[in-house]
Amino acid sequence: MASDRNFFQCTQCGDCCKGFGGTYLTDNDMAAIAAHLDIPLSTFKKRYCALSGKRYVLAQRDDGFCIFFDRNCSIHSIKPAMCRKWPFIDSLLKDIGNWHIMSSVCPGIRPDVDEDQLRDYVCKSLGRSSCSSKK
Ligand code: SF4
Ligand code: SF4
Repeated sequence: MASDRNFFQCTQCGDCCKGFGGTYLTDNDMAAIAAHLDIPLSTFKKRYCALSGKRYVLAQRDDGFCIFFDRNCSIHSIKPAMCRKWPFIDSLLKDIGNWHIMSSVCPGIRPDVDEDQLRDYVCKSLGRSSCSSKK
């Protein structure tokens, strides 16, 4: 049976925690992190977020890293859904070819995977019901 490690093993390089605008926040993400930091939501938004269009993203430090990056993720247990899902993300179900683009920027992603097995694994890990259907 396929597992995470058949497709991906994080090298902790930190590259995915660098660069503007990448980490979108849901309302649940913001509420959870604000509660974890024990600050009001409004303070969390002001101190730790930026806007990308109309959506909140995590702010960046001057060195380009996510404001919560400190050698690794300092909010690992409550990190945003987008960070938790990576690299098994929704856009792979639209086009499994995205995996190969992602593998060029994330050294933890194995490029040589069976696409059908990967699609099935992503589908299941995202909790979708029609996991046997192919694109
Ligand atoms: S870029 Fe990939 S390998 Fe590097 S820390 Fe992020 S998930 Fe892990
Ligand atoms: S919340 Fe954590 S995992 Fe997500 S970008 Fe920031 S440091 Fe990286």
